[in-house]
Amino acid sequence: KHYTKEDIMELVQDEDVEFIRLQFTDMFGQMKNVAITVSQLGKALDNRCMFDGSSIEGFARIEEADMILYPDLDTLAIFPWRPQQGKVARLICDVKRPGGEPFEGDPRYVLKRAVREAAELGYTFEVGPECEFFLFHTDENGLPTTITHEKAGYFDLGPLDLGENARRDMVLTLEDMGFIVESSHHEIAPAQHEIDFQYDEALAAADNIMTFKLAVKTIAKRHGLHATFMPKPKFGVNGSGMHINMSLAKDGKNIFSDPSDKNGLSREAYWFIGGIMKHMKGMTAITNPLVNSYKRLVPGYEAPVYIAWSATNRSPLIRIPSSRGEHTRIELRCPDPSANPYLALAVCLRAGLDGIVNHIDPPESVDCNIFDLTEEERKSRGIEAVPASLREAVSELEKDELIREVLGVHMADKYIRAKKEEWEKYTAQVTEWEISQYLNQY
Ligand code: MG
Ligand code: MG
Repeated sequence: KHYTKEDIMELVQDEDVEFIRLQFTDMFGQMKNVAITVSQLGKALDNRCMFDGSSIEGFARIEEADMILYPDLDTLAIFPWRPQQGKVARLICDVKRPGGEPFEGDPRYVLKRAVREAAELGYTFEVGPECEFFLFHTDENGLPTTITHEKAGYFDLGPLDLGENARRDMVLTLEDMGFIVESSHHEIAPAQHEIDFQYDEALAAADNIMTFKLAVKTIAKRHGLHATFMPKPKFGVNGSGMHINMSLAKDGKNIFSDPSDKNGLSREAYWFIGGIMKHMKGMTAITNPLVNSYKRLVPGYEAPVYIAWSATNRSPLIRIPSSRGEHTRIELRCPDPSANPYLALAVCLRAGLDGIVNHIDPPESVDCNIFDLTEEERKSRGIEAVPASLREAVSELEKDELIREVLGVHMADKYIRAKKEEWEKYTAQVTEWEISQYLNQY
C-alpha cells in the first residue's frame, strides 16, 4: 500500500488511533521504538522526530548521538492486539543524521543500498522467508523456560498440539495486519512451529519479518506461552531455521526460470547460486549471528552443514523448490530467525549479484544425501562446510571484502567487534557439560 501524509492523518482519525510507535531496528536485529501520541504525528511525518542514538548498541557514540527518524509512510499498520479504542499504530522508520544523510548504522539503510544496486541492474529482489519458532511454557514469575508438555511432531494436529490455538491466533492477527499467510504447521520438534507468509520485495519482506516476530511473541504471551526465535533452544531436537526463498524479477518477470534447461533454471539463477556459494562462509556471521546458531548447524537435524546445492535433495545448503515458471526460486537453508533480516537479505542479494555480474558458475549439484558421504568423498568433490562456530564465521567475514562492503565500514567494524566480544564471553564460561564430563573424572 502507498500512503501520503494526508492519508495517514485521515486514517489515524478514522481509526481512532491514539499512539504511534516509531520503529527501527538495531544492528543485532532488535526492534526498538519511540512512542508518540497523535498530537506529535505531524511533527514525526515532517521528519522532525529526534532520538538519542547513543543508547542503542551499534548506533553512534555519545558525541554524535542525535538521530532523526524518517517514517516510511507505506509501513503504517495498526496493532490488532492493542485496545480497539485509542488504537496503537506503528510506522517503520529510517534513521538519519540531523543533516538528513542516512545513518550507516541503520540496517534498513544497508538493505536499501543493496536493493538500489540490484535496481541499477534492472532487478527486483523477491524474498519469501520461512520462520520457525518454539512455544515454551513460562514459570510462575512469567519468565520463559524451555519446558513444554506437548509431544506433537511434523504436521500433527490438536489436541496433541497445545500451541494450536496460539498459532491460529497468530495467523489471524497477521492477516489483520495485512499479511497473506500461506500456511502454518507444527514443525518436527515438540513445541516447534512454522508460519509462512507470502513473498514480497526485499525491503518489505525484511519489515515483515520484524513485524512477524513481534506479533508471534505478543500473541504467544497472551496464551501464557513464550515464543522464541533462538536457533537451537534444545539439545537433541531440531533447531529453528529461517529458510530464505529468493528470486529476481526484471520487468515484472522471474528471471530465474528457463524451461529449456534440465533443471528449469536460467543462467542468472546458476550464477546467483554460484555467488552465494562463493560468499557463504563470509556471510554466515550475518545469517547465523549467535554463538547458539552454530549448535543448529550440525548433522542430524535437517539443518545444512555443507556448502552445496541440489535441485532434488533437501539436505544441502541450497535447494531448488519444485515449483517452476514464475515461482522458480532458490532456497537458502542456513539462515536462522535470530538474524537481522535487513542485513541477512542485503548480504544474500549482493552475494548473488556478484555471481551474476562476474558469471560465477556454481559447482556441480550434489543430488545424494551429503551426510552419507565420507569425509574423503566430500573432499574429492570439493565440498566444504559452513563455519563451525561464531568465531570461525567472524574470521571469514573479516576476509570477505564484498560482504564487508555490503555492511559498510561503520557497520562491519562494529559488528565484527561485537561478535568477537560475544564469542570471548562465551568461551570463558564453564558449562554444565564440562562439569558433567570432567569434574569427576579428573
Ligand atoms: Mg520448516
Ligand atoms: Mg524450507
